[in-house]
Amino acid sequence: MIDTPKNLTRNILLGMLLGFVVGAIFYYLEIFPQGIKNFVSIYIFNLGGSIFINLLKMLIIPLVFFSLVSGISSLTSMKSLGNITAKTIGLYLATTAIAVSLSLTIASIFKPGSGYSSDIAPPDNLPEGQGIYETILAIFPSNILEAMAQNQMLAVVFFSILFGIALNKTNHLTGNFSTAFEKLNTVFMQLVIMIISFAPIGVFCLIGKFVITDGLDIFQEAFKYVILLISVLIIHVFLTYSLILKAFTNLDIFTFYKKMKEVAIFAFSTSSSAATIPVTLKTVQNDLGVDKNVSSFVVPVGATINMDGTAIMQGMATVFIAQMSGIDLTLIQYVQVVILAVVTSIGTAAVPSAGTITLVIILQQFGLPLEAIGIILAVDRILDMIRTSVNVTGDAAVACIVADSERLLDKEVFNK
Ligand code: ASP
Repeated sequence: MIDTPKNLTRNILLGMLLGFVVGAIFYYLEIFPQGIKNFVSIYIFNLGGSIFINLLKMLIIPLVFFSLVSGISSLTSMKSLGNITAKTIGLYLATTAIAVSLSLTIASIFKPGSGYSSDIAPPDNLPEGQGIYETILAIFPSNILEAMAQNQMLAVVFFSILFGIALNKTNHLTGNFSTAFEKLNTVFMQLVIMIISFAPIGVFCLIGKFVITDGLDIFQEAFKYVILLISVLIIHVFLTYSLILKAFTNLDIFTFYKKMKEVAIFAFSTSSSAATIPVTLKTVQNDLGVDKNVSSFVVPVGATINMDGTAIMQGMATVFIAQMSGIDLTLIQYVQVVILAVVTSIGTAAVPSAGTITLVIILQQFGLPLEAIGIILAVDRILDMIRTSVNVTGDAAVACIVADSERLLDKEVFNK
């Protein structure tokens, strides 16, 4: 298993605090000459923050590619379980779409980030809104390298899926070449961890930059973002999952939540759905009574592609940043956020903070200022823990529904 850096949460919090303090000293106390203030602002905060953002962006395309290819190549290997595959993917997509729609609904009512205007102005040349025609056409790249170079997510996802299927179909001719991609995926997860371990410094610079230019007012709005986000995560876990479990099975909801406690705590403390896979598998099989044939497929695939909590964060963060930049998203753009959040949450690696990396794709799509990721990252540690618990609970709920529909759920075990 990949090691996450020790004390990362604590260090990021410290970096954030230090960014506040140093930024505030320069902003509020006029004891330093303007030249020094400019130097700190440009060569420390700005440069450091931009380097960190570049490092995050650097990972996006290869990460999405390897994570999807390795996911898909193991997925299609279960040809005999075509039914289970279809149900699983259908439910995963549906729950994620519900999750982000819920998030956008609440965000559009409470408007986190509104009433604050800062230097985070929208760039001059906002990209033209894409019509349905262009959006559909953009799924099918004429040149995959160009699509990758331009961060065209839908095209990269499409190609990765095709590639994953082809990889699987040729495994017997290539000496199980798909395992090479699983290994590369592991390597990229490690890269994410390596870059995330610089998060304390990155967050220090990004926060410092905000405070040195804008003072501290901004964080009142971030507080609203945090509270709203946690509320939506809680609503989704307890309302949406209860409703779909009730709709598709006659299992006892309370038993489900009671037995999921350990998985949720583990996900909370590791902030990684991938690291939680062993615990999720154990609980789903031994405590919830899901047959091994279903769980061994549904749980790992879910950890890779099903991230309702992440999609909720991405929806809320997009509205938050748009509001902060004085942009009101249109209805069409809301629909685009839903589609993008479903797609990017699929492409998000199941490791700490990965959701904030793929959030960049959505922000870019709407021409929203990437610097605002600093505010998101500053408050992200605790949110990452909570949304990872949501992600794994979703995986288990879908495992129960699929198993029950295939009569592969042992109710005696479930009710024990
Ligand atoms: N940490 C999350 C997970 O592993 C991904 C994310 O949203 O950052 O499920």
